[in-house]
Amino acid sequence: MASRGSILITGGAGYIGSHCAKAVAEAGFVPVVYDNLSTGHRNFVQWGPLVIGDVADHDRITATVREHDALAVMHFAAFSAVGESVADPQKYYSNNVAGTLGLLRGMREAGCDRLVFSSTGAVYGNAGRDPIPESAAGPTVNPYGRSKFMIEQMLADYRAAYRFNSVCLRYFNACGADASGTIGELRDPETHLIPRALMALLGHVPDFAIFGEDYETPDGTAVRDYIHVDDLASAHIAALELLLKGDAGGVFNLGTGTGYSVREVLDAIRAETGEAVPCVVRERRAGDPPILVADPSKSESGLGFKASRSDLGHIIRSAWAWHQKAHPRRR
Ligand code: UDP
Repeated sequence: MASRGSILITGGAGYIGSHCAKAVAEAGFVPVVYDNLSTGHRNFVQWGPLVIGDVADHDRITATVREHDALAVMHFAAFSAVGESVADPQKYYSNNVAGTLGLLRGMREAGCDRLVFSSTGAVYGNAGRDPIPESAAGPTVNPYGRSKFMIEQMLADYRAAYRFNSVCLRYFNACGADASGTIGELRDPETHLIPRALMALLGHVPDFAIFGEDYETPDGTAVRDYIHVDDLASAHIAALELLLKGDAGGVFNLGTGTGYSVREVLDAIRAETGEAVPCVVRERRAGDPPILVADPSKSESGLGFKASRSDLGHIIRSAWAWHQKAHPRRR
């Protein structure tokens, strides 16, 4: 099949970016990964060229977009740890917000005006609603969520002033891994529930704990909307196709609309792996809302996207296959 053209993928050497690069290639485009490898992995770049660079470097962005004649950009490059953003906000505003400004400047200079942006359910703060519609964003409760919300607002201004079109995708809890076993979640330190629990089974997390059992939820543990990274990747292709058709874009939740508690996830891990995660119960983690579940109806109608690979058992089986390869058993 002849190539449909190039798509620049910032942060394409990371977890979600690498899965999307694969989907971009499968959709007939050349994924050009642009990553500074600060947290990404060179061996996750398998479907197109790698350009090592920083998003803040607008001249480099302009040159890369021009060299590859990129039709659009998917922007994943960002720091994403909530706790770290509270301790070191400068790192987040500098990399996420100022870095994105550099990217946008470089894109405009090269005449590229289509962007799919990696946003987050963290823009909802303590929404207190279940499920959460896109209209419920803000006030945010941590610098990470604020940095992403600021970028969404910048993009709305760019759309109005410059006809610079963008789709902001607000991910709920990304999880799971590609069936190839060559890309998956790989962070140091790992903070997320499913990878931490599976790594605990493999002897790589000695102190796994449930953070809080006193929430006002059915079993007292916090409830989240877990969406398989392959579903996220499909949604990115739908967003890309929308922009390529000339649509101005918009903001969409990416979730399933179904929530699971921490205990339900641990029960599912036991059912799928045959092993119980060794755990204790600790205090709530600062900044964690009790329930975050997406209202997926706008992404269904506006993007034509509906999660279809986010059955919790499938998520856990795919993540388990990945972690057994990435983190060989220690005990
Ligand atoms: N969580 C937990 N133990 C862990 C990691 C996470 O109990 O080792 C809980 C966390 O408090 C939250 C849920 O699992 O209620 C999902 O957390 P995660 O960090 O995976 O994603 P977040 O919802 O914070 O983006």
